[in-house]
Amino acid sequence: MDSQIITTFAREMTSILKNIIPLLTFVLLAFAPAAPVWAGDAFTIVLDAGHGGKDPGALGKRGREKNINLDVTLAVGRLIEQNLKGVKVVYTRKTDVFVELNERAAIANRAKADLFVSIHTNALPGGKQGRGSETYTLGMHRAADNLDVAKRENEAIMLEKDYENRYEGFDPKSAESYIIFEFMQDKYMEQSVKLATLIQRQFRVAGRPDKGVHQAGFLVLRATSMPSCLVELGYITTANEENYLLSRQGIEQLANSIYQAIKKYKESIK
Ligand SMILES: [Zn+2]
Repeated sequence: MDSQIITTFAREMTSILKNIIPLLTFVLLAFAPAAPVWAGDAFTIVLDAGHGGKDPGALGKRGREKNINLDVTLAVGRLIEQNLKGVKVVYTRKTDVFVELNERAAIANRAKADLFVSIHTNALPGGKQGRGSETYTLGMHRAADNLDVAKRENEAIMLEKDYENRYEGFDPKSAESYIIFEFMQDKYMEQSVKLATLIQRQFRVAGRPDKGVHQAGFLVLRATSMPSCLVELGYITTANEENYLLSRQGIEQLANSIYQAIKKYKESIK
């Protein structure tokens, strides 16, 4: 292009821009989202349905843990979305898919979530009977029972590709691996225990046997940077518990308990 054409081109562009800019400004202003009324009140919660896809979790006679976890998680999410204005729900999965443990925590961290709730179903080996719901926060408790629960839940990583490297040699089955949790400082411990306590209280209100608040070394909680807890809804390996966990009434009661606890937690931190 010679200089004459360039000058003409530049002049035309300037004139086009002059006409477009006021229009653009108008369009942007007209369609820009209004400033959120509850700006200081924005609250994001990540709901994590344990297991999924190739990882069924614990198995009952009829049910699979992954499906119970998902049913309850989606029901909790619906209750929040319908009733708690200004609360955003993020799910680590909404369908029957496999999600790696680290990725579940990463989803919560990326969402800058205020709360992370992982939902699971308990199991006991060798025909042992168990009844009730319990909630865990991250922490090391040397009780063998808690180590068993943590081991069972953490074993999900063994279905992940290259887990030995990605979890820095962590062996979910070896007690020694859990020593790392003893040196961990959880700065969200107080709030996590508060939420866990509220959840257990609501389970009691719904008539569930209260198995209490405990601590254990859960990988999925370790990598989250917000208050977090892991719920064990009930025992899929105990017949009448399994029936309850698979029933519409059971799913609704459990979901409502968790929802009520989240609601109370949010009110308490206002
Ligand atoms: Zn589980």
